[in-house]
Amino acid sequence: MSKYWSGLVRNIEPYVPGEQPKDKTYIKLNTNENPYPPSPKVLEAMKQAANENIRLYPTPTCDELRSCIAQYYGLTNKEQVFMGNGSDELLAFVFLAFFNPGSPILFPDITYSFYPVYASLFHIDYRPVPLDGNFSIPIKEFFKKNGGIIFPNPNAPTGKYITLGSIEDILKQNTNQVVVVDEAYIDFGGESAVKLINNYPNLLVVQTLSKSRSLAGLRVGFAMGHEDLIEGINRVKNSINSYTLDRVALAGAMASFADEEYFQNTRRKVIATREKTIFRLLEIGFTVIPSQANFIFISHPLTSAGDIYQQLREKGILVRYFNKPRIDNFLRVSIGSDEEMEYFLKALAEIIDAVC
Ligand code: PMP
Repeated sequence: MSKYWSGLVRNIEPYVPGEQPKDKTYIKLNTNENPYPPSPKVLEAMKQAANENIRLYPTPTCDELRSCIAQYYGLTNKEQVFMGNGSDELLAFVFLAFFNPGSPILFPDITYSFYPVYASLFHIDYRPVPLDGNFSIPIKEFFKKNGGIIFPNPNAPTGKYITLGSIEDILKQNTNQVVVVDEAYIDFGGESAVKLINNYPNLLVVQTLSKSRSLAGLRVGFAMGHEDLIEGINRVKNSINSYTLDRVALAGAMASFADEEYFQNTRRKVIATREKTIFRLLEIGFTVIPSQANFIFISHPLTSAGDIYQQLREKGILVRYFNKPRIDNFLRVSIGSDEEMEYFLKALAEIIDAVC
């Protein structure tokens, strides 16, 4: 605490990202990064972009990349796409663009922990909607009066997915406010709501290149929706920072969308490893929440999640433990390579054997 801090800074409780420790080399299964490198074509494009033109500002409107994404998703034009420096930055703009103080927004009570942080920072009231007994999103609760809605699909940290039919039900009941579907993990088995955009002018779909495209370090996220929504986000962005994506990021992102084969192979490998891992975990007595993401949410009836987290850490494996009510006996484990998951499963079996 410093006497120089503003009242706002004194009162915020910032988001705490997953650990990125440097003390030794860990098997990192804690921040849902992709275990595979990006396509070699992406790395090549980035090297090419790191040339003397870096003295010039990048294009603030990211036109070429937006056109490329619009085409990739079969949208009408680039005016339906917004680019952000990672989807976290974009989501902050979205909260400012569409949600109002005094008109509570809804999101699941177990969800991405950045949402309450943005809401508090911008003085937006919110009402967390409790997930039901098996961690599903209770759709009808989102029919109640609200000032806007946001949820990840699949949800985080549970990995549970809701169908497009349910999303349409929510959209039909909320035509006067914006419904944001945060699809950070959609490429690992779910169906994107992007195809609903032309029918629902209040739908905003947010995606990222951090997970399925192995580019968490590049910081590229994007939103797709009706042109008027995109214009709204642009008004916020242009009131904060014109140049959110640098030249290297623009080139890398373009190259990623151009290498479809690499993208499909990588995401398929992650999905296959997830399914193998779930099978093995069930064999050793774990409860595994059904996942359509690149992570799984697991618990064991005989051992506390906090203990497992600590013991895995000592064995050089990082997973995510949220010491929060209702989920304090669960661990979120990102899907690594086959070798990493073998190592993880072996370590886990040793931990469980010692208590059983
Ligand atoms: N949404 C959800 C649900 C996430 O889990 C994450 C990653 N922590 C993000 C958005 C942000 O991803 P990024 O800023 O890397 O695009």
